[in-house]
Amino acid sequence: MTTMYQDRHHRWVYLFAERSDGAKGLLGGKGAGLADMTHAGLPVPPGFVITTEACNAYYAYDRQFPEGMWTQAREALDNIEARVGKRFGDKENPLLVSVRSGASVSMPGMMDTILNLGLNEYTVKGLTAQTGDLRFALDAYRRFISMFGQIVMDVAHEKFERVLERYKAQTAGNRDTDLTPERLCEIVADYRRIIFAEQHGHLFPEDPYEQLRMAIAAVFDSWMGRRAVDYRRVNRIPDDLGTAVTVQAMVFGNMGETSGTGVAFTRHPSTGEKTLYGEYLLNAQGEDVVAGTRTPHPISQLLNELPTAYKQFMTITQQLEYYYRDMQDIEFTIEHSNLYLLQTRSGQRTGAASVRIAVDMVHEGLIDETTAVQRVTPEQLNQLLHPTVDVDPQAGIVVLATGIPASPGAAQGQVVFSPDDAEEIARDGKKVILVRQETSPDDFHGMVAAQAVLTGRGGATSHAAVVARGMGKPCVTGATMLEIDYSQQQFSVNGTIVPKGEWITLDGSTGRVFVGQITLVQPSLGADFYKLMGWADEHRCLRVRANVDTPHDAQVARDFKAEGVGLCRTEHMFFEGERLAAMREMILADGVGAREKALEKLLAHQCQDFSGIFQVMSGLPVTIRLLDPPLHEFLPNLQELLTELSDLKSALRRARNGRREEQLLEEIYEKRALLRQVERLHEANPMLGHRGCRLGLLYPEVTRMQVRAIFEAACKVQGEGATVRPEIMVPLVSIADELRHQAALIDEVARQVMDEQGTTITYSVGTMIELPRAALCAGKIAAHADFFSFGTNDLTQTTFGLSRDDSGRFLSHYVENKILPDDPFQVLDQECVGELVQIGVERGRRVKPDLKIGICGEHAGEPCSIAFCHKAGLDYVSCSPFRVPVARLAAAQAAILDTAGSSLDLT
Ligand code: ADP
Ligand code: MG
Ligand code: MG
Repeated sequence: MTTMYQDRHHRWVYLFAERSDGAKGLLGGKGAGLADMTHAGLPVPPGFVITTEACNAYYAYDRQFPEGMWTQAREALDNIEARVGKRFGDKENPLLVSVRSGASVSMPGMMDTILNLGLNEYTVKGLTAQTGDLRFALDAYRRFISMFGQIVMDVAHEKFERVLERYKAQTAGNRDTDLTPERLCEIVADYRRIIFAEQHGHLFPEDPYEQLRMAIAAVFDSWMGRRAVDYRRVNRIPDDLGTAVTVQAMVFGNMGETSGTGVAFTRHPSTGEKTLYGEYLLNAQGEDVVAGTRTPHPISQLLNELPTAYKQFMTITQQLEYYYRDMQDIEFTIEHSNLYLLQTRSGQRTGAASVRIAVDMVHEGLIDETTAVQRVTPEQLNQLLHPTVDVDPQAGIVVLATGIPASPGAAQGQVVFSPDDAEEIARDGKKVILVRQETSPDDFHGMVAAQAVLTGRGGATSHAAVVARGMGKPCVTGATMLEIDYSQQQFSVNGTIVPKGEWITLDGSTGRVFVGQITLVQPSLGADFYKLMGWADEHRCLRVRANVDTPHDAQVARDFKAEGVGLCRTEHMFFEGERLAAMREMILADGVGAREKALEKLLAHQCQDFSGIFQVMSGLPVTIRLLDPPLHEFLPNLQELLTELSDLKSALRRARNGRREEQLLEEIYEKRALLRQVERLHEANPMLGHRGCRLGLLYPEVTRMQVRAIFEAACKVQGEGATVRPEIMVPLVSIADELRHQAALIDEVARQVMDEQGTTITYSVGTMIELPRAALCAGKIAAHADFFSFGTNDLTQTTFGLSRDDSGRFLSHYVENKILPDDPFQVLDQECVGELVQIGVERGRRVKPDLKIGICGEHAGEPCSIAFCHKAGLDYVSCSPFRVPVARLAAAQAAILDTAGSSLDLT
């Protein structure tokens, strides 16, 4: 790099006419598009591009232009002068230029552009003479001063806006086009005074070359501006791409009623319909259309006003779409009925439009199926599966708070702060959103009743997040700016108070929270969706399964074409009502006998749950994980118990009659017993404590009960004609003998039940690989396993030594400060957790070449992590049911990229 920057002959500048190779990386999207169109002979005002390399050099040199750049820019400017027959800074026949930003990836509206550059006290007279139009020249001048003042000289936009509004208000029509030359002169004078005052006596630069130099630097600077940096962070765009700067001869849309400016998409950006969709304004310039200066007209109306230009534009838009083989977003200006193209780029679109356009273009023969599969991003597909918030950036809707986008989709409802309220209010048919500091299994019923969940703490794998995703409900977690006050039944954000009962809208796809009811767009899956998914399935190597806990989830997964269940968490079945009581009884039992009696009650429930899932998944494998969480999760909270106990005691002191006293004493006695048990089970680090297979090792009767339930259900459902393929999975193994012990137990009980029932079930036994030690001794473990499933949530937690329940508080700081590229609980840390996965795969398969290997952590639904799983040679990924289509697409894209080799340019 350094050598390139020091090379005096390095090319920093290219004329449009010089490049036709679509060098987006170097010229930026805008520059490359203009060069392409120039080369294709389309009417483009001449210009040149200062490369993204120059921008990076500018930053490397402490915000100085690299050597040779300025000279090359001036030479290029000479070339433009010759082409248009005007001279930059000339008093009689001045050339004006625009100075435009543009990176290789589209960042609409994030950086700055300056129009009409080159105007000053003298050249404005030249422009008047040149065009014979004083009003126009002054209009261009006032636009230039305000743009330059704002972008280059850092004067607040509103200062200019206020002046303009005041003068407009004095005209008959309150329009900028009604301003007379006299008024425009006054505006210019006012603008110059504002700049003088704001710049502490610095005058507006009169020298056009000085203006140009300052404007180029300002565009470079805008790359590191707050807006651009934030946009890149949200959209995961690297900071070192740099922006190119395009300098281009001006054409004028503000030269009266035969001139105008507009924007159009070659297909509808919301629906994908094949129709030209756009807007224009006559007698206007630049951003007037998007800025809402006046209300623009639909593009079709241009046919009546300027038919020749319109027809020419129609033809060109089709040409451009054909050339790029993608939907284009095109900017144009008409000067005295002559059409000029100012930009073409592939247009931003919704998920629905993306799918429709990809499929239509295959049918039209513009692209092949493989390209279509690559055209739709997994996130766009995701949008299609959930309602979304429809926020027009122009509408001025304020985001109240943002958190982690934990479960996609949008929802709205009235705020409630407790699960019981959620249930009660929802029972009346009302929509509620459950707002909690964080959720626990006790809140489950509230989550079921709520439309969506919002928490102040916790990350993307917090309880709230995992449960919400499993249910396909929108969820925003870790909205740390929320001050939740349970006692007042309200939360506040920077002084805005939201009480219980107030409506909010939550967008789980972006993590945004709004006050009130924002318009939602409902999803609809049409034929195009199924067609595209079919093409995707032809490409992928990874199989896609789903994590499901109930027959209902299983049905959702199967409808999305999941190829089995990769993870059924049996403990989720224990959190509800009666079952929780039986579970507590089991945990609190004294001795094996009492425990087995309690387990008897659970057996029936488990058996029923498994039957339902087996029925839905007939013919497909169902992986059932044995009990995993620490037992205290099923017991009441220690703190609460203590409070209840002290309440009971004070009630006892106040009690007046003997019967009541007796009753209370009994209750106190029971509570004390419970308290002792809870204290006995209390662990300082429960996630590293007595959980996973460690439970089954100490309480083999729990494993026996679960395995019995699985096989009784399997025999029954198979007897009804379904094909049942259970895979029993032992969690949290780190020592080969743990698995050996559990596997022997599983086989023993399986044989017992099959003998009793006189049925044979084809089943397999495997383990989670979710501890570093398990990955390292995968070879020994594989000896006892038919399959591995990487539990990357726990594996991430234990590799980093980072609690996933608490890390939300500081991980965002890590990501913001680039200490970590991503939250490792959302995007798999390929560097180290990934290495453990690779080691696990390699050592496992060395011992057992046909070992089936999958992944069932949260990462299994995340596209980058799926690409990694493909490369690592996994057999399947297993994600939440609503992520299944996303995973199918991501797996296909990974496979396509793999066969195409890394040389393929996908930008
Ligand atoms: P953005 O990246 O925000 O779209 P642009 O660089 O495309 O910014 O500029 C915004 C608008 O300014 C364009 O859509 C176009 O209307 C106008 N514009 C830019 N350059 C010229 C030019 N050379 N002649 C006339 N109008 C221009
Ligand atoms: Mg533009
Ligand atoms: Mg785990």
